[in-house]
Amino acid sequence: MAYRSRLEARIARKTTKAIVDFGLIEDGDRVLVGVSGGKDSWALLQILDVLRRHARIDFSLVAVTVDSGYEDFRHDLIARACNERGWECRIEHTSIGETIDDLLEPDDTPCSLCGRLRRGVLYRVAGEMGATKIALGHHADDVIETLLLNLFYEGTLKAMPARLVSDNGHHVVVRPLVYVRENEASAYAKECALPVLSCCCSACGDLSLKRQRIKRWLLDLEREAPGIKNSMLRAVGNIAPSHLLDGRLLHALGAGAGGNSRRPSAPGAGHAAPGAVHRARGT
Ligand code: SF4
Repeated sequence: MAYRSRLEARIARKTTKAIVDFGLIEDGDRVLVGVSGGKDSWALLQILDVLRRHARIDFSLVAVTVDSGYEDFRHDLIARACNERGWECRIEHTSIGETIDDLLEPDDTPCSLCGRLRRGVLYRVAGEMGATKIALGHHADDVIETLLLNLFYEGTLKAMPARLVSDNGHHVVVRPLVYVRENEASAYAKECALPVLSCCCSACGDLSLKRQRIKRWLLDLEREAPGIKNSMLRAVGNIAPSHLLDGRLLHALGAGAGGNSRRPSAPGAGHAAPGAVHRARGT
């Protein structure tokens, strides 16, 4: 397959690997791609379109943008970019921004509520449009940051599933960029001349948010010990349950004291249980 650049070839390879490892897209799928206008969702839409045109399986794409109602949000640029490239697109206008303002106290962090509300809109639109999968642009750096957020602030060891089923079982959310690094997605969106937009909400880029702090810490760590993020990413796909302290897990694995349920080999990122399906729960 001819790619426009080495970067595109690399992203295509990583995305294909995620699709295969976790069974993210199947023949006949109609994939709703959540497009915020940020670099990651654009990179996702672009690479899925490249893969779709060359895939052995048949699947279709529809880009859906949830407009939160912020005045300066240039959803028209998203619609235009999609039209120019022949991508089916729907802009869903909402008043999520207002709802968040009404519900949250001034010092509350809006992202979690915002994410849930936007996800709800995507679920509804997916039903209306007959989409069988909802693809989101979370990438490898998001996986690592989420792992640390949960570890440092929530007291739980979990990252972000590549594939999850909504609580009601009606929707399947997939993240085909889980092996793609943020800088790759960013460079790819730029290379493809996609119009990267800000979401225009007041929390966008707020450096006091926990996720932004984690990003800065990781940046410092990576400077001091290059490769640390890659190691963390490999770790997410290479867990040793018997060396954790979760009695429920040990019980389920039948690993008593002294038992070792660690897999014999130490695979790299992406070798975690192919096709594993996780239940949706605030990820
Ligand atoms: S930065 Fe704004 S748009 Fe993005 S998740 Fe947070 S509240 Fe929502």
